[in-house]
Amino acid sequence: MKVVLLGPPGAGKGTQAARIAEYLDVPSVASGDLFRDHQKRDTELGRLARSYMQRGVLVPDEVTISMVTEWIETEAGTGGFLLDGFPRTLGQAEALDGALSNTDGLDRVLYIRVSNDELVRRLTGRLVCRGCGATFHRVSNPPPAHGACEDCGGELYEREDDRPEAVGKRLEVYFSETAPLIDYYREAGILREVDGEQSIDEVGRVLIGEIGSGS
Ligand code: ADP
Ligand code: ADP
Ligand code: ZN
Repeated sequence: MKVVLLGPPGAGKGTQAARIAEYLDVPSVASGDLFRDHQKRDTELGRLARSYMQRGVLVPDEVTISMVTEWIETEAGTGGFLLDGFPRTLGQAEALDGALSNTDGLDRVLYIRVSNDELVRRLTGRLVCRGCGATFHRVSNPPPAHGACEDCGGELYEREDDRPEAVGKRLEVYFSETAPLIDYYREAGILREVDGEQSIDEVGRVLIGEIGSGS
C-alpha cells in the first residue's frame, strides 16, 4: 500500500503516522522530520530549509521533491510507504505521480479535517521529543508527570515554528498551497476524508478503516 497523510499543520498526521505504518507494515517518513534531521546534522540542505521553516513558509519544491523521492528509492523501493507532510503543493503531487509511474501509483490519500481554532490550540500546546520525534500536547495528550518522553525518555521541546506568529503564516500557506490537493486526489478517486476532532484513538480507528474501504 502506498498511502499519503494529508491535512493542515496540527491535524494529527504525525500522531497517527506510527500506528498506520505499523498496521500497513510499511516504512513511513515525515518531510518535516527529514528537514529537522538535516538541521541537526547541519548539512547544506538543513541550513537552506531552516530559513524557510522559521518563517512558516514552504521549502522550495525542487529540493523537497528530490529529498523525498530519494527517501522513497532507498527506504521503500517499489514497495509500500506512508508519507506524512508530502506532497504539500500541486507541483509536489505531480512529481510524486511521476516518480511512481512505473508502479500502480498511490492507493490512498487520507485527509484529516480539523477546524482552524482547534489547529491553533493543538500547535501552540505541542511538545516534541528531541530523541525520537514523538509528539505530545500540554492539555490533550500530556507527557508523563516527569516531563520526559514516554517512549524514549528524551527531552521535550516546543518547535520554533509553533510560536503564534509562525502558526498563522503556516495556516495561510496551507490554505493557498496545500488545500488544492484535496480536489486533486478527490478527482483521482483515492481521497478519504476523516473527522480529526475526535479522540486520538478514534481518529486512528477511522483512518485504518478508510484504508481498506472501496477501491
Ligand atoms: P506540521 O506537521 O506541523 O505541518 P511539518 O513538520 O510537516 O509541520 O513541517 C514543518 C515545516 O517544514 C513546514 O512549515 C515547511 O517549512 C517544511 N516542510 C515540511 N514538509 C514540506 C513540504 N512537503 N514542502 C515544503 N516544505 C515542507
Ligand atoms: P501534524 O503532524 O498534523 O502537524 P501532530 O500529530 O503533531 O500534527 O499533532 C499536533 C498536536 O495536536 C500535538 O500536540 C498532538 O499531541 C495533538 N493531537 C493530535 N491528535 C489529537 C486529537 N485527536 N485530539 C487532541 N489533540 C491531538
Ligand atoms: Zn522520545
